[in-house]
Amino acid sequence: MLQFLFKSRKGQFFSLAILFTVAGFVLMPIHDLASRICFYIAIFFGGFFAAKDAVVDTIREKSPNVDLLMILSALGAAAINFESEGAVLLIIFSGSDLLEEYATDKTTNEISALMSNVPETAKLVMSSGQTKEVSTEDLQLEDQVLVAKGEQVPIDGYVDSQVSIDESALTGESIPVSKEAGQEVFAGTINQGNAFKLTVSKTSDETIFSSIVKMVEEAQDHPSNIAKFIDRFETKYVITVLIAVPLFVLALYGLTANNWQEAIYRGLVLLTVASPCALVASATPATLSAISNGAKHGILVKGGAAMESLSSMDQLFTDKTGTLTFGEFTLVDYQASDQTLAYVTYMENQSNHPIARALVDHFKNLDFSQVNSSQPVEEVAGVGLKMGDWLLGKLSVFEGYKGYQELNEELENKQTTVVAAYKDEIKGYFVLADEIRLEAKEAVHNFMAAGVDVSLLTGDNETAASQVAQAIGLDHYEASLTPEDKTVFVKEAQNEETVIGMIGDGINDAPALANADIGIAMGSGSSVAMESSDLIVVKNNLAKLFYSFDLSKRLNKIIIQNIVFAVGVIVILVILNLLGILDLPTGVVAHEGSTILVILNGLRLLKTPKDADDDEVEKEEETSSVSLQA
Ligand code: ADP
Ligand code: MG
Repeated sequence: MLQFLFKSRKGQFFSLAILFTVAGFVLMPIHDLASRICFYIAIFFGGFFAAKDAVVDTIREKSPNVDLLMILSALGAAAINFESEGAVLLIIFSGSDLLEEYATDKTTNEISALMSNVPETAKLVMSSGQTKEVSTEDLQLEDQVLVAKGEQVPIDGYVDSQVSIDESALTGESIPVSKEAGQEVFAGTINQGNAFKLTVSKTSDETIFSSIVKMVEEAQDHPSNIAKFIDRFETKYVITVLIAVPLFVLALYGLTANNWQEAIYRGLVLLTVASPCALVASATPATLSAISNGAKHGILVKGGAAMESLSSMDQLFTDKTGTLTFGEFTLVDYQASDQTLAYVTYMENQSNHPIARALVDHFKNLDFSQVNSSQPVEEVAGVGLKMGDWLLGKLSVFEGYKGYQELNEELENKQTTVVAAYKDEIKGYFVLADEIRLEAKEAVHNFMAAGVDVSLLTGDNETAASQVAQAIGLDHYEASLTPEDKTVFVKEAQNEETVIGMIGDGINDAPALANADIGIAMGSGSSVAMESSDLIVVKNNLAKLFYSFDLSKRLNKIIIQNIVFAVGVIVILVILNLLGILDLPTGVVAHEGSTILVILNGLRLLKTPKDADDDEVEKEEETSSVSLQA
C-alpha cells in the first residue's frame, strides 16, 4: 500500500499535500502568513488532479463532476480565510481517489497474475537447424519452435511427437496429459516430458491466454447498470448544486438582514456537504474489488455488468460434457469392422470434441491407407461428423437408416453413444463413459440451496443425461438437444423478471452462452465459448463459480449500504446546515469521512471470507471425481 502511494504521481502529490497541511497547522500559532502559504501549497498539490479532471470533464465532455464541486469548495473556503479547511478537504478527496485507484490496480494485478504464465521469448528453430531466442511477438504461423524439457510452452502450436503436458495453468487438472504428434498445445502450459518441436498455430496475440486477457481488459468498459446510473445522476446532481448554492446564498442574504459574510459561509458549507462524493464512490471501488477477488480464485468476470447479472441470477442452465463432467471419455464398448474403425478414427482426428479425443486415443496406430479421403471432414456441432457418404454422430440422427431399430434397442440404457454409418446403412457403434466433476456436484447443490433453479441441457442421449443428472442431484434435464435447442431454452426462460445463466464449454454451447443474461464458459473450453461468455471459470472449478456468485451478492449488499449511507449523510448535513448549526470544518470532515468510509467498505470485498478459505483446504484433500459406468 505504501509503495503504491509513492509509485504514482498522484500518490506523490497527495503525500506533499499532507506534508504542507501538517506544516500549515504547526506554523499556525507561530507565523500566520507562513502557515497560510503552506495551506495554499497543500491546496495546489491536493487539488491538482481533481482540477485537471474537473476541467477536462466539464469542458470536453460537458458533464460537470464532483471534482469541480470540490475545487470550488476549497477555493471558496480559502477565499474567506478558511485555507486549512480547503486543504483538508482536498487531501481527503484526493486520498479517496487514490484508494479507488488502489482497487483498480489490485484488479489488474490479480488478473495478470492469473495470466502471467506465458513466457515472452521462444526458441525459434532456423533453417540451419540451430535455435535463436526471439520474442514470442515475432513468431509467425508455421514457424518451428523448440520447447525444452520442463519449459513452458511459449505459444500455441502443433507438436511433432508424443509429448506430456501439464495443462494445470489452463484447466486446473494437475495430472499431465499426453498429446500425440499433430495435436495442439497451448501457451502457458508446461512440457513435462522430453524436448519437442512445435509448429506455431496462433500468433502471440491470438493464443487462448492472450484472448482471455484481452476480453477482460475490454470488460473494464462494461460498467454495471447501477454504476451507469450513478454516472448519469452525478452530472445532473452537480448542475443542480451549482445552481442551488448561489440561489441559497441570495435567499439567505435576503432573509438574514443583509449579512453577506454569513450567507456565503452557509453557501460554502452547502456546496461542500451536498457534493455527492460518497455516492459517486459507492459502486466502482467495490465492484473492482469483487472482480479482483474473483480473479484470485480463478473466476474472470468481464466487468461490473456481468457481476451485477450474476448476483441476480434466478435460473442456471448447464451443459453436461466438459462442464459437469471432465469430458474425458473412456471407451466402454464398441462394435465395428476394421474398415469402419479406420474411417471413424480418420474422421475423429479432425475434431476437437472430447469424444473424438477419446476415440483417437483408443484406436492409435490404425492404417488409413484404405480410407478414401478425397472429401473434406465437416463437423456438425452437437451432432457429429460427416465425410462424403460417411456419417458419424448421435443415434437419433440415424432414424430410418438400415439397422436403426435393432441398434435403438441394443443401445437403450447405454450412456454416451456414437454411431457410424455409410450411405443409409449403420456400420458400427461406440459406447463411452465420462467422469463427473465433484466440485460440479457441490456447486449445483449450493446454487440450488441459494434458490437458483439449475437444469441440465445436453446434446447427449436420454440415458447419459439422466445418469449425470442423478449423480449430480439435478431434478431437471433435457437430452438430445441441438445447439439451437439450447438457445431456444435460454430464450424462452428469459423475461423481464428472470435472469438466466448458462454454463458451457463447447462450440455447440456458444450461441446459448451469447444469448443468456450471463454466459459462463469453462477455461478448458473452446475459445468461441469463452468469447461468447461474460464470465470464465479459468481452472474449471465450479465450486469457485458459486464463490463468485456469493461475492456478487455481497457486492450488491455493499453497494446498497453505501448508497443509503452516502445519501443519508448528505441529507443530515444539509439539514444541519439549513438550521445553521454546522460549521465548515465539521462539514468537511463529516462529508469527506463518509466518502472514505464508503470506499473502505467496498475494499472489504478484496478479502476472502474466513469460512470460504476453510472450505478450500477440505476440498483439496478430497479426490475430485466419481466414475460413471454404463
Ligand atoms: P454436450 O451438449 O453434452 O456437450 P454435444 O452437443 O457436444 O454434447 O454432443 C452431443 C452428441 O453428439 C454426443 O453425445 C455425440 O453422440 C454426438 N457428437 C458430437 N460431436 C461428435 C463427434 N465429434 N464425434 C462423434 N459424435 C459426436
Ligand atoms: Mg459440452
